[in-house]
Amino acid sequence: MFGTAAEDFYGGAMSEKRNRIIFWFCGLGFMFLAGWEAARAKDRLAQTWQGASGDVGQVSMEPPRVALTFDDGPNSQYTETLLDGLRERKVQATFFLLGENIEGNEALVQRMQEEGHLIGNHTYHHIRISKVSEKEAVEEIESTSNKIYQLTGVYTSFVRPPFGEWKKGLEFHVTMIPVLWTIDSRDWVTQDVGKILDAVLPKVEDGSIILMHDEFAESVEAALRIVDTLQKEGYQFVTADDLLLE
Ligand SMILES: [Zn+2]
Repeated sequence: MFGTAAEDFYGGAMSEKRNRIIFWFCGLGFMFLAGWEAARAKDRLAQTWQGASGDVGQVSMEPPRVALTFDDGPNSQYTETLLDGLRERKVQATFFLLGENIEGNEALVQRMQEEGHLIGNHTYHHIRISKVSEKEAVEEIESTSNKIYQLTGVYTSFVRPPFGEWKKGLEFHVTMIPVLWTIDSRDWVTQDVGKILDAVLPKVEDGSIILMHDEFAESVEAALRIVDTLQKEGYQFVTADDLLLE
């Protein structure tokens, strides 16, 4: 009885995963890293400026977009405050979760899903993917994705490799898209709101993907101040998939 239920559960996950394989394999080749999109975003911005200085009819009306991404959570102390602040500001972000941090924080993961945030995978034990066997890397990633699936009903397609280190070709084994970043807030190093704002705000442009960690009070405060500042400048906050999949 139990065995059948478990098979159905994982069978469902696998068939959902298979359905996505066709879709992702069409796209994986050209959207491997965020850097590609950042280059395009620069082009778009240049075109917008060109339009503004020339024919007014050509001006793009689309607001510039930016994605906040948080690694290493969920965190029992700080993630809830961050989620409250994001909800107040009607902002969706992206959370790359560690499998080992999900236990005890299941309600936070479900809340992320309910409130429209994108949930991605950051491996189970924060491993250095380039230093382990392919088998171990796949296990680290799949065990985390399974945990997320059990809580949300969604098998994530996005993985942020710890330390930004990936293994060539691994995306085809796990059928996922590795997502890097264009701006490193260095929040875990400085743990200082002012320094985090200085590291991020001057660099933001249309298409930026900002790397932060929801495991420090300073990161949460800085993230919300980044939202307040950029919203006033007309930026729209989106989840990372919006910047990668267009
Ligand atoms: Zn990390």
